[in-house]
Amino acid sequence: MKYEIKCVGVLTSGGDAPGMNAAIRAVTRTAIFNGIRVKAIYRGYKGLITNEIVEFQTQNVSNIIQQGGTILKTARCMEFMTPEGRKLAYENMRNAEIDALVVIGGDGTFTGARIFAQEFNVPIIGLPGTIDNDLSGTDTTIGYDTALNTIIQSVDKIRDTATSHERLFFIEVMGRDAGFLALNSALASGAEAAIIPERETQVDQLEELIRNGFRKSKNSSIVIVAESEITGGANGLAKRMREEHPEYDVRVTILGHIQRGGSPTAQDRILASRMGVAAIDALMDEQRSIMIGVVNDEIVHVPFTKAIKDDKPVNAGLLGVLQILSI
Ligand code: ATP
Repeated sequence: MKYEIKCVGVLTSGGDAPGMNAAIRAVTRTAIFNGIRVKAIYRGYKGLITNEIVEFQTQNVSNIIQQGGTILKTARCMEFMTPEGRKLAYENMRNAEIDALVVIGGDGTFTGARIFAQEFNVPIIGLPGTIDNDLSGTDTTIGYDTALNTIIQSVDKIRDTATSHERLFFIEVMGRDAGFLALNSALASGAEAAIIPERETQVDQLEELIRNGFRKSKNSSIVIVAESEITGGANGLAKRMREEHPEYDVRVTILGHIQRGGSPTAQDRILASRMGVAAIDALMDEQRSIMIGVVNDEIVHVPFTKAIKDDKPVNAGLLGVLQILSI
């Protein structure tokens, strides 16, 4: 070990995602395996400011790999966005003898981490924990696969009732301004279309897609809509359809927070475990201000500045696949 880190702090921040617990477990056990103490920080950056810091042993993370949510709780913390708040966070961190941090969260979490690391020269490694899959430099994020599976289970159920009543369903899924969940859940559930923010023109094509569907005597249509101002959300699209086509029996389902919950899939548990180990390895290897990612099944190191760049492309070819398969 080149740079000696004696104690690492771990926290979860921003929106919770299934698999965060598997990541906490992996970070804790890998650190202890390497002779590094672990301090768990509760409620994200808020816990650093309010001093909710507890030392963890290996048994503190027993029996959590299968649990959704995060045992460390999470929070959105406005105070950490101020220099005074971050100064307090740093002082508490030093008083707790924490030398480095592993932060598990999304782009906001990494934005805060980058600023904090720069201001106080703190070694910080990030793990991508978000169901939205909207971080650049990694093929997938912790929680995304579980959310995708939760969505398709719900869509399968809605399909049963949609078919019975010959209805047009708009189902809204999460993703913030990214269409990964909408596009891939549409493919996996056999939906007629996906409306995603990355393809604004689709909203104009929607009518055609649906008309084709009904003309071909399908007795129901399901359109997955990504939550976003750009798409107008499921309610926005349904309103338009009702006005323009009163003949359709239009229904809306907003899946909401059900998408965040549940036991993580095998894929998310494995991803979180690998990334947790890689985070401690990276710290011991003197890596700083990077997110752990996975590209082509290999662990990669992504600078925070790149991870939070809002440019992760959806695979546009998948829209074509969806269109072919929905005839
Ligand atoms: P998700 O993608 O699930 O929403 P996230 O990490 O993007 O997760 P945010 O609420 O955006 O969630 O950010 C989490 C926390 O990171 C914020 O509550 C705040 O404490 C901190 N943070 C975000 N942006 C900044 C910033 N510009 N400066 C300092 N801290 C920040």
